[in-house]
Amino acid sequence: MNTIHDIVVVGGGVIGTSCALVLQQAGARVLLLEGDTIGSGASAGNAGHIATEQIFPLASLEIMLQLPRMLLDPLGPLRIDLKYFPKALPWLTQLILNMRPSAQLSQIRALTALNNASLSAWRDLLGSIQQPNLLIEKGSLMVFEKEHTKAKLTRYKNKLRDRGIEVNTLDAHTLQEKVPSLSKQLLGALEFPQTGHVVDPLSLVNQLFRSGQALGLEYEHAKVLDARRTTVGVELHTTNGVIPCSRVLIANGVHAKPLVQSLTGIHVPLEAERGYHLMLPGEKNTLPCAVTSAERKFIMTPLNGGLRLAGTVEFAGIEREADMRRAFVLEQHAQQLFNHRLNMHQASPWMGRRPSLPDSLPVIDAYGHDRRVLFAFGHQHLGLTQAAMTAQLILQLYRNESPAIDLKPFRVSRFQKTQF
Ligand SMILES: Cc1cc2nc3c(=O)[nH]c(=O)nc-3n(C[C@H](O)[C@H](O)[C@H](O)COP(=O)(O)OP(=O)(O)OC[C@H]3O[C@@H](n4cnc5c(N)ncnc54)[C@H](O)[C@@H]3O)c2cc1C
Repeated sequence: MNTIHDIVVVGGGVIGTSCALVLQQAGARVLLLEGDTIGSGASAGNAGHIATEQIFPLASLEIMLQLPRMLLDPLGPLRIDLKYFPKALPWLTQLILNMRPSAQLSQIRALTALNNASLSAWRDLLGSIQQPNLLIEKGSLMVFEKEHTKAKLTRYKNKLRDRGIEVNTLDAHTLQEKVPSLSKQLLGALEFPQTGHVVDPLSLVNQLFRSGQALGLEYEHAKVLDARRTTVGVELHTTNGVIPCSRVLIANGVHAKPLVQSLTGIHVPLEAERGYHLMLPGEKNTLPCAVTSAERKFIMTPLNGGLRLAGTVEFAGIEREADMRRAFVLEQHAQQLFNHRLNMHQASPWMGRRPSLPDSLPVIDAYGHDRRVLFAFGHQHLGLTQAAMTAQLILQLYRNESPAIDLKPFRVSRFQKTQF
């Protein structure tokens, strides 16, 4: 039995690293295991948007109606690899079943509770490591180009306001005044004041990691191949041999499925929603805040290293090679939103895998009567947004305290009967 560490965290993405840091700050002796390099998964290349306004589940009737048209376009915002389709089908079926009004209502409630606490959780976490400047709190915008989008956005705004989300409308003139670099063709925007962005998603994870290490967080470069429960704890079978531990936190993103199965017998329907980004280093300071396009379904975020264009969803499994045309196509879309020619010098593409469950909620849980196995995975499009709050909740579960929000909707046991 590993008596040196109180808990072993598997996975050094933004979720695992935030949890490891917060547990270490609270006095636990933590070992972090990462099979690749810290922050190298989805957390490396996300759009950096603290998207607290995104409280609606992934599937909606509107998206379903657009599906056939989207699927015909190989470089469109949504693509399902034909060969992968049979494998994605059970997950997609679950996604559609989750569109039942009663299911959607509880998902919206759960996402709202988690997101409402997320911006201040980041403020607190970055404040605690003296790095408040990694977070920019200037809100974000959703711009639109077509007259008929206006009515849709008004409905969206009203739905958000009904749920207590702060949202303002900007007309074309006010938008131009606020962001003069944007095209004069834009008709207006929704503004979300209670959102923000980080200045560099990968540096952020590395900073969290270094701050943890300064407090004594231990690290081993090891991939966990299997995990077994024993009478006194958990045995992790790793590329560095067997690591026995009394408690473990599974936080390895899209790769969590087999470990969850070994530890609980539950088949979690975890799917890789592959997304792309194109980084434009020549476009530093082009925008003051993150800007999404309502029609083109992608985001542009001003990061320290330049402008990041990000988005799209591709279902092609974890292993299939990236199709970087999907990243480069984002430039054509972005070009339509600016009043100057974008500088493409040293533009670089990237692909990452969002860990997504069909009810759009992550798993945040302490499992079993002994609560030795904790889970934090499946944060889909919102892993960066929710990481600091997830870490607070994991600490509360670890300490057996009552969590700050109701964690029933986030339990792993909700998938107990699902067979995949
Ligand atoms: C294009 C794109 C844009 C996005 N934009 C945003 C955004 O603006 N805002 C937002 O909130 N979210 C965004 N996301 C989603 C967000 O990036 C993810 O939800 C988040 O990064 C998931 O974090 P994670 O730590 O769970 O997973 P990961 O970052 O993938 O980390 C998991 C880690 O575990 C390691 N690992 C895996 N298996 C093992 C093993 N067996 N043993 C040891 N280590 C292992 C991996 O190497 C990896 O480092 C975006 C995602 C994409 C793809």
